[in-house]
Amino acid sequence: MSDRHPFLYYFFAFIGIILGRYLTIAGGAHLLIHSLFIKFLVKQSIRIDPPVWESIHRDIKLSIYSTVIFAFSAAFSIFQFDRGYTLLYGDIDRYGWWYLGFSFVGVLVLQDTCFYFMHRLFHHPLLFRWFHLGHHLSRQPTPWTSFAFDPAEAIFQALFLVAIVFTIPLHFATVIALIMTMTVWSVFTHLGFPLFPSSGYFRWCGRWAVGPLHHSLHHQKYTKHYGLYFTFWDKLLGTEYPNYYRVDLPDKSLQSTKDAIVSSVNN
Ligand SMILES: [Zn+2]
Ligand SMILES: [Zn+2]
Repeated sequence: MSDRHPFLYYFFAFIGIILGRYLTIAGGAHLLIHSLFIKFLVKQSIRIDPPVWESIHRDIKLSIYSTVIFAFSAAFSIFQFDRGYTLLYGDIDRYGWWYLGFSFVGVLVLQDTCFYFMHRLFHHPLLFRWFHLGHHLSRQPTPWTSFAFDPAEAIFQALFLVAIVFTIPLHFATVIALIMTMTVWSVFTHLGFPLFPSSGYFRWCGRWAVGPLHHSLHHQKYTKHYGLYFTFWDKLLGTEYPNYYRVDLPDKSLQSTKDAIVSSVNN
């Protein structure tokens, strides 16, 4: 990292890295669902809708715009690191091993909080069309939707990452772990079907963490479920279906799950 490179070198390198990451993880999830595991999932009575290529193409197109914006912000951050302006560091002993985990969890909580309020703001009728409509065009999300943001929304999301490298000391390993967590979690929450049973340990997790069911409901009911990783803010500010995690799912098809939740709330 001590070798300095021109800005454009970083920019094009990050386009390759970010696009490769998206295509590998979202594409890998798509292939796993629709070819390798489809028989197994159907046996588990998980109903998988056939892929809608029109919305997948639209999501990939938006994700390419997001890639360019995130690559620009990543290149800017590394370019500034080379000049000593960021708080990124490479020597673990500078803050100790414990700080790696502490800063990782701290940034997740901070990002979840920023995302919740930004997300609610983007749903304001004056902003929605410009900032967030693109992400919601897929009423039934798929792994491809995980990185599909309107450019205006992608700029704000990327600004968060730029802001933290200038204000919070972060080891490079922590940054990589954070970016992988963001990517994998986003693909997970956009699977479009509930992956885990709604009982036992998973029920407890489903109560506090955002999963595919929680976020799929947001793609259909815009006034609920704005959280990114955790359900804390949704619970505190009353934007969560009060008993969505308590509903006994009739089966693992998402539509019947949604119907059960909506009717249990209405009754
Ligand atoms: Zn939304
Ligand atoms: Zn979404």
